[in-house]
Amino acid sequence: HQSSNGSAEIHIEIPEIKFTKLFINGEFVHSIKGRTFETLDPRTGEAIARIAEGDKDDIDVAVKAAREAFDHGPWPRMPGSQRARIMHKFADLIEQHAEELAALDCIDAGKLFFRGKAVEIPSAVGMLRYYAGAADKIHGDVLKSTRSLHAYTLKEPIGVVGQIIPWNYPTIMFFMKVAPALAAGCTMVVKPAEQTPLSALFYANLAKQAGIPNGVLNVVTGFGRTTGAAISNHMDIDMVSFTGSTEVGRLIMQAAATSNLKTVSLELGGKSPLIIFDDADVGNAAELALNAVVFNKGEICVAGSRVYVHEGIYDEFVKKLAEKAEAWKLGDPFDPSTCQGPQVDKRQFEKVLSYIDIGMKEGATLLTGGKRWGSKGYYIEPTVFVDVKEDMRIATDEIFGPVMSLMKFRTIEEAIERANSSKYGLAAGIVTKDLNVANRVLRSIRSGIIWINCYFEFDSDFPYGGYKLSGFGRDSGLEGLQKYLQVKTVVTPLHDSPW
Ligand code: ADP
Repeated sequence: HQSSNGSAEIHIEIPEIKFTKLFINGEFVHSIKGRTFETLDPRTGEAIARIAEGDKDDIDVAVKAAREAFDHGPWPRMPGSQRARIMHKFADLIEQHAEELAALDCIDAGKLFFRGKAVEIPSAVGMLRYYAGAADKIHGDVLKSTRSLHAYTLKEPIGVVGQIIPWNYPTIMFFMKVAPALAAGCTMVVKPAEQTPLSALFYANLAKQAGIPNGVLNVVTGFGRTTGAAISNHMDIDMVSFTGSTEVGRLIMQAAATSNLKTVSLELGGKSPLIIFDDADVGNAAELALNAVVFNKGEICVAGSRVYVHEGIYDEFVKKLAEKAEAWKLGDPFDPSTCQGPQVDKRQFEKVLSYIDIGMKEGATLLTGGKRWGSKGYYIEPTVFVDVKEDMRIATDEIFGPVMSLMKFRTIEEAIERANSSKYGLAAGIVTKDLNVANRVLRSIRSGIIWINCYFEFDSDFPYGGYKLSGFGRDSGLEGLQKYLQVKTVVTPLHDSPW
């Protein structure tokens, strides 16, 4: 029941796995077919627990419960302030279990335990409270008319929502989707990623304790091709909100189109540029750049994986970056001194290593890393390639691992053009002290978020989402609430009505 790293003894309770079944209509139930799958600990590759494997028939039952809760239940009908009270209670319960929840994400996804406890679980709580605050402020507009009409809009919850969640942020992604949908008065069927189902089931239990009515929040664990596809193909789901790969995003949109034309929101892949100008403090910029790509082991859709450095500081930057990458500490994610834990699973681990291989074959030069770290689990050294060309696959493809492609640029026009050359458009970073340069670049770059002299600054009030193949629709912020609302226009005559 503890993890130790030789130097400092660490005593973290590995939590008992309490919830392994599907959560439908307020109850934990076996899947109809009775099948289960293993969820693995990426620190060792060993099984943690067997989880119920949902399928199309389980999704059908969950959707029925969500539909009933939407059509006849109290959730969409109660005042927003009452939903807010329940959401705050849900948030309180999460706060009380922060350590256990951080430990679940740590063993399931290889995420840093202390960061989870101090930052990620509190951010999820913050998101619930942010949207609880919005729940009683949802209203439409009074409209102008050229004729004698009184017209206004009503904002109504969109209905039953299918929420398909990725494995890199099992907690934050869950609440980025669930919290606004709850505030809007929707009911939902959530499918966590098969790699990381543990915390989602725990949240389902807390939602029940908080008083969220049965059928409002259902969690069906299972695989993408079966359980996930059953959501996107379903005839009685009104909207599907997805975060994951561009490839799967296309399948979801196709399924929505050929089933019931459900509304689709897609937050997909990225290959985000970070542009560092020659007035930057080189040491700080190298630190920022390293962090932008190895943070959360590079398993983050907004990772700054293409780094463009001005030729005037390039050589010094490379030297500083190499020093910082060497000092970056891999290890057990329960260890407070660890900067980077293991990749989520064997498939991702092998995918990242194969891209490192591709980079070498394409002729890029390895500056640091390039190998597995240790002999157990799915750890990969922070890897930096220099002499990267724009058309190399390591510069065009989303690797989703701690792999940086470093490139040199000369002019601002060139930096803009190369930053925009990607098929993706999720995020970008700029490092410069020159406001005019920053303004010019930020307005020219086609991406959903731009960080200037920082990276990965998140907040509940900030909308996230993509341009181009990074998808459409926004999560988080008030934009993230609007997508769970329908607009109904109401028109009545102002004068001389015969009725
Ligand atoms: P990755 O390729 O990085 O594992 P995915 O996009 O495959 O990411 O997975 C993100 C989420 O999408 C997971 O919950 C996964 O189960 C789900 N998923 C995968 N394939 C499909 C599919 N064909 N239809 C619906 N959901 C899917």
